Amino acid sequence: MQHFQLMATCAAGIEALVGKELRELGYTCQVENGRVLFQGSAEDIAKTNLWLRTADRIKIILGQFKAKTFEELFQQTKALPWETLLPMDANFPVSGKSVKSILHHVPSCQAITKKAIVTRLSDYYHRKTKLPETGAIYPIEVSILKDIVTLTLDTTGSSLFKRGYRSEKGGAPLKENMAAALVSLTTWFPDRPLYDPTCGSGTILIEAALMALNIAPGLNREFVSQHWRLFDNTIWQEAKQEAKKHIKTDITLDILGTDIDPAMIDIAKCNAEKAGVSQHITFKQMQLSDFKTTKEFGILISNPPYGDRLLDEEKVHHLYRQMGETYAHIPTWSKYILTSDLAFEDYYGQKATKKRKLYNGALRTDFFQFWGIKPKRHN
Ligand code: SAH
Repeated sequence: MQHFQLMATCAAGIEALVGKELRELGYTCQVENGRVLFQGSAEDIAKTNLWLRTADRIKIILGQFKAKTFEELFQQTKALPWETLLPMDANFPVSGKSVKSILHHVPSCQAITKKAIVTRLSDYYHRKTKLPETGAIYPIEVSILKDIVTLTLDTTGSSLFKRGYRSEKGGAPLKENMAAALVSLTTWFPDRPLYDPTCGSGTILIEAALMALNIAPGLNREFVSQHWRLFDNTIWQEAKQEAKKHIKTDITLDILGTDIDPAMIDIAKCNAEKAGVSQHITFKQMQLSDFKTTKEFGILISNPPYGDRLLDEEKVHHLYRQMGETYAHIPTWSKYILTSDLAFEDYYGQKATKKRKLYNGALRTDFFQFWGIKPKRHN
C-alpha cells in the first residue's frame, strides 16, 4: 500500500485542536504553525477528509528541497515520480506562494513547476504532443519558504469548512470549522444544555449536534480526490459507508438557538434540516435579554455582532451590557463569547476566567470564557 506524507492545514490558532482530532482518530502527528503533519494511505486520506472538523484541507507532500535558481526548481521538480499519482490526462493547475526566498516571483515559479511536471509526464507517457488535461483535477501547490520548496497536492478541493448544509448564510456567519473549534474549546458534554443567544444561521449549534451524534462532517459533500485513480472508486465509498455506521441514534440533546432576527431563525432551521440535525435543536426568535431558564450547569456560546460589521459601536456596547446583566442570573452556566472588541469585559461587567486568541477569517478575535460554578460532587 502506498504511504504518503500528509498535512492537515488549518487557521492560525487552532493547530492544537486539529492535532487532538488526528490523535483521536488514531494518528501520530506533529503540530506546526498553521498545519499538522502525519502519515497515511489513500484510506487515511479519505478518512481524515471525512472526519476532521477543525481543519481546512488535507494535502499530500510530494517533495521538499532547497532551490535558489529556476534550474534547481525545474530539475528537482522533474525528478519526482509524478506519474505514480497523475494519470496521462490529469488536469493539474499549479498555484504558488513564496516568502523570504530568492525565487520570489510567484507566477514564474508556478510556470517552471508546471513545465517540469509536463516534461516528466510527457516522457513517462510517451506523449509527443501536448498533454490533454481533460481528466480529473489534481490541484498542485508550489510553496517556497526561505528557499525551501514544498510541493503539495490538495486532496480536499473546496475547503473542509464547506460541509454542504449551509446554502443560506445570512449576515456574518462563522466558518463551520471555526464553529466546531469553538464548541471543542468549551466544556460542553452532550448531557448538558447548550444555548446560542445570537445563533444567526445556526452554525455553532449545528456543529455541536453533528459532534454529539458522531456524524462525520464531510458526509454530505464531494472531495476533489474522489475522482482520482488512486482511490479506484471504492475507497471513498467505503469510508462514507463506514462513517454512516458510527452515527449515534439513541441520544437526546438539549440545544437552543435564538436570534432577534426572524429571517435568521428561518435560515438556521433550514440549515439544521439539511445537516440532518433539526430534531435535536430548537430555534426561536427572541432578543437575548429575554432569556430565562431554571436549568443549571449549561453552556452558552455566542458570536455576537462586533460593531465593525453588523451594528454600530454604541449599539454593540449596549448589547454587551445586556449580556452581562442577563447572564448574571445564570451563575452555574459557563459562558463563551467570541468578539473582536478588546474592551468586551468592561461592557459585560466581569473579568473573563480565560481568553483565547482566535482568527475569525482575517479578523483577530478573542474567545472570552466565563466559567460557571461547578456542580457539587456527591461521594
Ligand atoms: N454565529 C452566527 C452569526 C452570528 S452574527 C452564524 O454562524 O451564522 C450575530 C447575530 O446576532 C445576528 O444574527 C443578529 O441578528 C444577532 N443579534 C443582534 N442583536 C441581538 C439581540 N439583541 N438579541 C439576539 N440576537 C441578536
